[in-house]
Amino acid sequence: MRKFFIAGNWKMNKTYDEAVQLAAAVQQRAVNEKKINIGVFVPAPYLRELAMASPDLIVGAQNLYWENAGAFTGEVSPPMLRSLGVSWTLIGHSERRALFGETDEEVNKKAIAALKHCISPIVCVGETLGEREKKTTLDIIGKQVKEAFYNIPADVAATVTLAYEPVWAIGTGKTATPEDAEEVHAYIRMILASLYSTEVSRTIRILYGGSVKPSNAASLLKMKNIDGALIGGASLNKDDFISICDTALTIEKGE
Ligand code: 13P
Repeated sequence: MRKFFIAGNWKMNKTYDEAVQLAAAVQQRAVNEKKINIGVFVPAPYLRELAMASPDLIVGAQNLYWENAGAFTGEVSPPMLRSLGVSWTLIGHSERRALFGETDEEVNKKAIAALKHCISPIVCVGETLGEREKKTTLDIIGKQVKEAFYNIPADVAATVTLAYEPVWAIGTGKTATPEDAEEVHAYIRMILASLYSTEVSRTIRILYGGSVKPSNAASLLKMKNIDGALIGGASLNKDDFISICDTALTIEKGE
């Protein structure tokens, strides 16, 4: 059975003091929590401190670079993250793809580099509004998933987490209906089964992201192939984020 993973992506938000306070509140909620994973993906300067102060939380990076070291001004490498005690990262968030030009090939390089250093990636995929309107959503998602997993062997692939985040639902207040999200999640699982095996496809968690909030979390999390949420705006408010964690705990699923 796949454990729910409720993850906050803080993006480029919070000053240092605000970040410490928010992480402390979420850490408090995560103490003794065995049934679900709770994580926060925080700005790089806060990683070390929050990772050390939050033993019951997954504290992850929002990005990394695929080289170990060298003349790559502004980038952060997998060994650097490991040396901070960080073993999770987001990869290929749609903002990285749209604003910083990240390609599927780079997402794959980053995923391989992360896995090589025992950093678990959450690889983000998602279609734009135009792509959804042209009814090419599944083609786009299929391509993003296949390219992200290129040259990743089955045993390590099973440790990857995916996040389906329709670009048009991010920060807009518009959410995919649970049925629309489920259709894409089930499709992703089918692609994973074709790339690897049914067993691997059943192991990989697929989170949904895009305007998840306390009022819509339950209907999304109840869907068979939705294994958690990657939350932007609502993760910046401790009560909202904790409420979504509490919602996840009330949901029992068969598989
Ligand atoms: P919102 O929850 O603000 O729509 O952001 C989703 C997201 O981008 C999480 O990575």
